[in-house]
Amino acid sequence: MGSFVKGYLQASAEEYLGEKIHMGLLGKRIDHITASATVGIADKVSWLKQQGHEVIDFSAGRAFEPTPGYVSRAASEALLAGDTHQTMAQGTPQFRKACADKLLRENSLEADWETEIIATMGVKQALLLGLLGILNTGDEVLVEDPCFVSYPPLVSIAGGRVRRIPLRRENRFRWTKDQLMDSITDRTRVILINSPQNPTGTVHTRTDLEIIAEVARTYDLMVITDEVYEQVTWDGRQHICIATLPGMRKRTITCMGLTKTFSMGGWRIGFIFAPAEIMEGLVKLQAHLLTCTNSFSQAGAAKALSEPPRKEVKELWREWEARCEYMTSGLNAIPGLSCTKPEGGFYAWVDISRTGFTSLQLADKLLEEEKVAVVPGSAFGPNGEGYLRINCVRDRKELQEGLERIRRALTETVNQRL
Ligand code: GLU
Repeated sequence: MGSFVKGYLQASAEEYLGEKIHMGLLGKRIDHITASATVGIADKVSWLKQQGHEVIDFSAGRAFEPTPGYVSRAASEALLAGDTHQTMAQGTPQFRKACADKLLRENSLEADWETEIIATMGVKQALLLGLLGILNTGDEVLVEDPCFVSYPPLVSIAGGRVRRIPLRRENRFRWTKDQLMDSITDRTRVILINSPQNPTGTVHTRTDLEIIAEVARTYDLMVITDEVYEQVTWDGRQHICIATLPGMRKRTITCMGLTKTFSMGGWRIGFIFAPAEIMEGLVKLQAHLLTCTNSFSQAGAAKALSEPPRKEVKELWREWEARCEYMTSGLNAIPGLSCTKPEGGFYAWVDISRTGFTSLQLADKLLEEEKVAVVPGSAFGPNGEGYLRINCVRDRKELQEGLERIRRALTETVNQRL
């Protein structure tokens, strides 16, 4: 199978798409962005499975369970009732009202559904829309390092420049105020944050957010937040929206989705809550880009968000927390690996520095020798080197089998080195 993981991360788009690009058909903006390691590795796993390989897939953050039945039923009823046409570019009133209800009920945010909410195709599209909406060419966007693999490409597609600020383990994967202040230049326009954070699992506390908010207010910056994991916080932690902090509502673009928490990844549905002035531009953009988000996805998502999460959904989240605990303690017991339970989200962020492998080498070794797919930490930024990201919300049997395979791959080699 070759060094697939390594190849995927290091090869330029030219090597992947071959002749066409050598002929210069691709524009520089796209040619220069890195391929998505999360989607790329997951796609490779699907291909390997089709070839009959028994791969354990801990790569992309996709839960094992399907969408809760009552949500799927709402979408299929909408489809059968003829809800098969384009909706308003901003999204259906029903969906936007449900988003506003949810924001008030669960996030203490009062949103005007008519002027402050737009339906998006998941959170990636929400982020792109937000970035395209407010960036001018060359504006700098501060991002966490490590951060989700798609942030730097999305920023550069929107004409911006990324400035990575390290999340250090000694600071419990959080920025300090000094770090943030030292990174501001006269081109800084946006701080892009993610909580619970992918890949480190950090849930930003009120103090963390107050630091970011203070810097944003002082330097007149916008904040874009990816809150796709907001419901899945562990050990009783509470997610806080930075838009609720003093003076932040008018300078925050809040991006939320149902992909993770309602296991609705295939539906591609999310939304943005942002000030009306910004929203006008985003609606204009959305009309050109997509016309609108899928009608029946909006119908199902409206059902999910219009009421408090049902018992079955809350049970699912509790089960995911238990799996995160099971997986991180299992990984910790393997020679050379060390990790703690995430504060929130789906991932074990595993320190592999004692194994003697780089993250690419180890990800490759696991895929080639044991057919276990993980994401090398280096895919999330330079500061992710020395780690692997492992998705913990697969089925219990897969977790158990995956742990055994990882142990087998590492025990002999690492014992010799330790
Ligand atoms: N966001 C998920 C992850 O980090 C899913 C993959 C993707 O959409 O890039 O794995």
